[in-house]
Formats: sequence, structure tokens, C-alpha cells
Amino acid sequence: MIGEKVIVIGGGPAGLLTSLYIDRYDVVIYEEHSSVGKPKHCAGLVGEKIAKRLTSILGSKIIDNKYNEIRFYTPRGKFELYFKKPIIYHVNRPLLEEVILDKVLSKGHEIIYNVKVKPGNRPDIVIVDGREVRGYKIIACDGPYSLFRRKYFRPYKQHLIGIHYIYRTKNLDENMIQILYNSLTPDFFQWVTPLDTDTVMIGFATLTYQVHPDKIVEYISRKVGLELGSKIEVYGGAIPVDKPLKKPIVDNVLFLNGDAIPVTKPYTGGGLLGISILSPALGKSIDSGDLSIFERIYGILKSRINYEYFATILTRKIGYWIPPYIVSFMYRLGILDHSDYDNHYRLFLKSLPLTPYMIMKILYP
Ligand SMILES: Cc1cc2nc3c(=O)[nH]c(=O)nc-3n(C[C@H](O)[C@H](O)[C@H](O)COP(=O)(O)OP(=O)(O)OC[C@H]3O[C@@H](n4cnc5c(N)ncnc54)[C@H](O)[C@@H]3O)c2cc1C
Repeated sequence: MIGEKVIVIGGGPAGLLTSLYIDRYDVVIYEEHSSVGKPKHCAGLVGEKIAKRLTSILGSKIIDNKYNEIRFYTPRGKFELYFKKPIIYHVNRPLLEEVILDKVLSKGHEIIYNVKVKPGNRPDIVIVDGREVRGYKIIACDGPYSLFRRKYFRPYKQHLIGIHYIYRTKNLDENMIQILYNSLTPDFFQWVTPLDTDTVMIGFATLTYQVHPDKIVEYISRKVGLELGSKIEVYGGAIPVDKPLKKPIVDNVLFLNGDAIPVTKPYTGGGLLGISILSPALGKSIDSGDLSIFERIYGILKSRINYEYFATILTRKIGYWIPPYIVSFMYRLGILDHSDYDNHYRLFLKSLPLTPYMIMKILYP
């Protein structure tokens, strides 16, 4: 190891996964909580590409469920999509963070808990317990309320607030995810995800809650015909919905990753895709000193997210339910592939020739 330290702020997937790809430097991760992955906030849903990518690095146990059926409830009706192979996978969090951490520690890197790190007065300095600490490189993966983003870039405009209710239940179709669109959360969707034979996750997100979350759960369970038993857990968190930063690097010393950028998919709020693409590139760039690896991968990811960002803004204004309506139509035409879940960009391009017809159908149902 070279004698200098890389400092990583945040023991979430972005901080941990980036650390996993650093071999030539000692890494110290600072995490403000007493363990990784808590408090829980994520639904953990990813597509095939990311599930494969994560399991190839971390082993298959991080995926604890797969789904090959989707049912959409939109203002224009109910649509069911069946696939031969799974289209959506459930990543167990916090197991994801715990498994990455084990690997990171076995490389000789270190994690220090219960410390909230603040930015210092230079990009290579951070404040730890009131003391200045210098790092060879600083990697800020401090999540959706990133202090480093706030100090060095423009603040976030908005966050969606997502909430999950976990219940015991009986009448579950274990293979099916149900997605609902309605006026209770007009700027995002609601999701019903089986976690095992008798446990369900009911989730939803919105920019501002006009209706009490308990009432939203009541509505969803009635709509999908779920008999809810005892409530096991409620958790949630913030999903940044801004465009990704132009360049998440300050003076070639400070780097941002994950929700601090953010690299979340604007339509679904999924952050694991961007993180699992970007983190290896960032780690390898720091190791080799060749930042072009990170810059190239970031450039590709950013332009895809930007496309989706503008499409999402549009749907938030005219109807968040329109994309699944189009997707259901593409499914009936046989041009939807199970790997499209990861590739909203490809989905968008595929749907373009259908757009005039779909606009007519939406305006004159
Ligand atoms: C309701 C909800 C549902 C979601 N569902 C999905 C989904 O289905 N699929 C998907 O792919 N993504 C989903 N996401 C998004 C995904 O969870 C995030 O994109 C991902 O967790 C971001 O990882 P991160 O490492 O950047 O940040 P985080 O996971 O937030 O981790 C940041 C870490 O940094 C620590 N930290 C913060 N500030 C400091 C500080 N100053 N000093 C020290 N430590 C600090 C925090 O304690 C935390 O451990 C969801 C998010 C929410 C809120």
C-alpha cells in the first residue's frame, strides 16, 4: 500500500462499493451510524443487469426474491405483464451493505462508526470530531442530504419522500409486483412487493404528502385486495430527484458518488444501478491515478439519466401513469424485453415510433 489514505464519507452502497475497488491506498470509511445499512430506507428493487452485476461481485445471497409478473393500475385501466424469466429482483438491504463491508474489511481497509464528518476549508480536508484530517483523496458518499454537495455545488431543489409499510398478509401472489398510479401520490407511484410467502412491502413516494400515509396504505390494500395482518415495520427516506451534477469532482481531490450526485434513475428513484456502474470506475480511477476511466463512465451514465430526467419532469406534469401505459402497449406488441427494466433509455427510444398513436389514444380514449 502507498502510505497515503483515501477518506470515504458514508458507509452506504456507494461508499462501500467504491472502497472495494481501491487496492493501492489505505481507505478509512467514516459512518455516522453505529452499523452499516441502518436506518433502512430502500425498497431494494433492481433489474436483471444490476442483479447479475451485484451477485457476481458479492454472491447470490444478497438477492432474496425475484418477480416475473407486473400488474399496473393506471387511470386507463389495469395491465398485467408476464415474463418467462424474472424481470425485477429484490436486493436484501442491509445485507447488501454488510456483505460489501466484510469484503472491504478483508482488504485491510477500516471503518469508523458514530462520526458525522463535515467538509473542511479545503477539498482535501475533512472535519472529524472537530479535528482537521487530510486525505490523499476524499470520496463523499454521504447520501441524499450530502453536506459535501451542499458546500461545493448547488443544493438540491427537491426530494421525494418514500415510505414502506411491512405487513403480514395471506393472499399474496409471490411472483407479482403491483404498481399503482393515482391522485394520492400524483408525482410518483405506489408499489406492492411480496417479500416472502406471508410478508408484503407496501411502498409509495411523493414530493408532498396531501393525504396521511396510513390512509394511502388503506387505499392500496383495498385496491389490490390484500388482507393485512400485523404491521411489522415502517421505514423510509429521501430520494433526490435533481439532475446529476455536471462533474462531481473538485480539484481532482474530492469526488462525489451515489445519492450525493445523484445518480438515481429519475422515474423510478432507483439508485443502485448508477452506483453499481460508477463505483468500480471511481475506485479503479483512484487506484491507477487515471481519472479518465471515471470521467468517461460518468459521462455516459449522466447523459442517459438526463434524458430520463426530462421525460420524468414531463410525465410529472401530464400524468405519471403514461409510461407504464405505453410499456403495456409495447408488451402487447411483443417488443418489450425483460431486460428493459434496467434500460429506461432504450425503452424510451423503442417507444418513440409509437408516440403519435399513443398520444391520440390518451387524448381520445
Ligand atoms: C423509499 C426509498 C426507496 C428506494 N427504493 C429503491 C429501489 O427499489 N431500488 C434502488 O436501486 N434504489 C432505491 N432507492 C435508492 C437507494 O436506496 C439509494 O440510491 C442508495 O441507498 C444510495 O446509496 P448511497 O450510498 O449514495 O447513500 P445512502 O444509502 O444514503 O448511504 C449514505 C451513508 O452515509 C452516511 N452519512 C451521511 N452523512 C454522513 C456524514 N456527514 N458523516 C458520516 N456518515 C454520513 C449515512 O449514515 C449512510 O449510511 C430507494 C430510496 C428510498 C428512500
